[in-house]
Amino acid sequence: MNRYAVIGAGPSGLAAARALTRRGIGVDGYEAAAGVGGLWDIDNPRSTMYESAHLISSRTTTEFTEFPLRSTVDYPGHRVLRQYFRDYADHFGLTDRFRFETKVTRLEPQGGGWDLTSDGPEGAHTRWYAGVVLANGTLAEPNIPAFPGTFTGELMHTSAYRSPAQLAGRRVLLIGAGNSGCDIAVDAVHHAASVDMSVRRGYYFVPRYLFGRPSDTLNQGRPLPARIKQAVDSRVLRAFTGDPVRFGFPKPDYRIYESHPIVNTMILNHLGQGDLRIRPDIDRFDGSTVRFRDGTADDYDLVLLATGYTLDYPFVDRAHLHWRGAAPRLFLNIFPASFNGLYVMGMIEASGIGWQGRYEQADLLATYLDALEHDPDTATRFRDRVTSQPWPDLTGGYRYLGLDRMAYYVNKDAYRGAVRREKHALEDQTGRRP
Ligand SMILES: Cc1cc2nc3c(=O)[nH]c(=O)nc-3n(C[C@H](O)[C@H](O)[C@H](O)COP(=O)(O)OP(=O)(O)OC[C@H]3O[C@@H](n4cnc5c(N)ncnc54)[C@H](O)[C@@H]3O)c2cc1C
Repeated sequence: MNRYAVIGAGPSGLAAARALTRRGIGVDGYEAAAGVGGLWDIDNPRSTMYESAHLISSRTTTEFTEFPLRSTVDYPGHRVLRQYFRDYADHFGLTDRFRFETKVTRLEPQGGGWDLTSDGPEGAHTRWYAGVVLANGTLAEPNIPAFPGTFTGELMHTSAYRSPAQLAGRRVLLIGAGNSGCDIAVDAVHHAASVDMSVRRGYYFVPRYLFGRPSDTLNQGRPLPARIKQAVDSRVLRAFTGDPVRFGFPKPDYRIYESHPIVNTMILNHLGQGDLRIRPDIDRFDGSTVRFRDGTADDYDLVLLATGYTLDYPFVDRAHLHWRGAAPRLFLNIFPASFNGLYVMGMIEASGIGWQGRYEQADLLATYLDALEHDPDTATRFRDRVTSQPWPDLTGGYRYLGLDRMAYYVNKDAYRGAVRREKHALEDQTGRRP
């Protein structure tokens, strides 16, 4: 039986370990941190969690279907989620399969598989695997844009933000308004001396609750065509949250869902209360002064870059993952078309894909690896299809913004549909089900 390595014990790595072991496939896990949970473990040195963080998608749309969260809370906090992943790993016998505090430092192709080099408590080791599952996370490597000039106050990326104590009594400028940026802005209004947020474009703000229910639970399983959903949801948002332009945000130059929506309306409440101000794009830094594009300027103690993350698989040469632009180009964001024995988990950004969406990736991978072992002809047909036929459209008809951070963005319904179809096709051919 072939053995496979899994890099990372976050939700994606755990999903991979679960799906593979469920099919009887041998797995060795490698995790740089001391335990499971990935970025949901605030004590993981690579975590980008902060004390006030909660789920952004709601519990029932996010949890693993076969292991529901034991909570009635709609948007649990990060510590509840860390415990959830610990319980998940223990329940399915995954914890013991991981080497903790063991970082993968290098992957080299060798003899039809991969030499994996790791460094941990047992020292540096190289072991051979038939294949390697890369689940090292997509939100770990900060994207730090270059700004003209020099800022003499403290310049920090949101990945280093942990608690409001870091903001206390300071004049704070946040650059960017993603979900983390908006969460931190809300923290800041309670602790900082002043809070400004510099933005380049407009955003759509989705309330956590609509009609008394978590908003992402509405209309589940019955996806509307993109144009209709955009028209309906923009009307609903206008009715519930009003026009963010009133609060100083630029008007979005794109339609709703063509970029990641912000699930946070508290920031709008605080803008309405005058607790923070929206500022335009940065022109340059000038000592402790930040000059904005509209000619205005202000002094700050702390500039917090809420400028997102870049993908990084630092332990393997880029050619093996067929990088194109800002992301590897992979079939269903999982399989390199060269079928070289590397498989990527969790390289999906989508509104509402949840951990179950990540599990379904792992399930497809496990079904393919099972076919590889027990029904090689079916596995060959799968590979032939991938290399000879057009790949499915994963946009769901939405025209995503052409930004680096959208390079691996998918529509959750289109994506999950395509993944499930491939899995069922493989299972129908092999007749093998776990
Ligand atoms: C504040 C915040 C809120 C979020 N809210 C939601 C939400 O509501 N819903 C949702 O679906 N997603 C949410 N996310 C996205 C989040 O990325 C996913 O939920 C999930 O954590 C992705 O899991 P992952 O396993 O792919 O990556 P990660 O959780 O990042 O785990 C990767 C793991 O790999 C390990 N690792 C990395 N490199 C190596 C190496 N070289 N060797 C060994 N181990 C390594 C890391 O230590 C880490 O444990 C949120 C993210 C943040 C930051």
